[in-house]
Amino acid sequence: MAHHRRAELLSDRAALRTRMAAWRESHQIVALVPTMGALHEGHLSLVRLVAARADRLLVSIFVNPAQFTPSEDFSAYPRTLEADREKLGTAVDAIYCPPVADIYPADFVTSISLEGPATTGLEDRFRPTHFKGVATVVAKLFLQTTPHLAVFGEKDFQQLCVIRQMVRDLELPVNVVAAPTIREVDGLAMSSRNVYLSEAERAVAPLIYHTLTQCAERLRQGDEANLVLAEGVAILEKSGFSVDYLEWRQADTLLPATTIEQPTRVLVAARIGATRLIDNIAV
Ligand code: AMP
Repeated sequence: MAHHRRAELLSDRAALRTRMAAWRESHQIVALVPTMGALHEGHLSLVRLVAARADRLLVSIFVNPAQFTPSEDFSAYPRTLEADREKLGTAVDAIYCPPVADIYPADFVTSISLEGPATTGLEDRFRPTHFKGVATVVAKLFLQTTPHLAVFGEKDFQQLCVIRQMVRDLELPVNVVAAPTIREVDGLAMSSRNVYLSEAERAVAPLIYHTLTQCAERLRQGDEANLVLAEGVAILEKSGFSVDYLEWRQADTLLPATTIEQPTRVLVAARIGATRLIDNIAV
């Protein structure tokens, strides 16, 4: 049987350092796609989005303990490195999958936390230490991998805003690229956590997207926002969802939206059974 050609696996900090030194020396433009693995079409679309803009593509796979709150699924989070390597094939040049100690050595005490509208509210109300964990690991990955570009999905829209804010504030020399959300044919946003859904939960899960679509449509028509959102919540809860939030926000600042004259988004987080799903769309 022929061997599949696959990307180089950089399993630790030392291997990354060697590879990056070689790329830098030959003046390669490097794009980083940070992920937690359990790769799906959404992740692969991020790779494709920047393929033409970089000489070298690097995917990082790191299930970041710092972004899980204690009650969350850190140990249960799917870890599927072999399948991930298969899926990436030769679409990327290398995969960086460091052990936890190469990101957080035993004496690690620094963190990056953001205040202001990008971080407060929405996810932050339900996962209070989440973005501190995200910002810290992304800053560290940027410094370790020194990419020219880094790609983030709009699926995690607040995360994208937090990263942009951090890059602006700290003048990190990285060009942040936003990628559109990839969905299943029935509208459900692809997510590594979708594997947690039972058959019955999977069947109602697309209602999240349909509710977002409906809300956006009504907001565009000028319907009263509080009413539109309350009805959206009611529709979801009637089908068994427990809604953490359903909100209308300005796309650039994440401040509450009141008009469609500037770009806005509707963002939702809802739990079905033990699984928490998030999604958002442009109005
Ligand atoms: P994760 O592995 O869940 O941390 O996601 C890694 C990156 O992929 C993040 O920038 C996500 O926003 C992005 N991503 C996850 N799901 C999707 C999707 N369905 N469409 C587009 N991007 C996604």
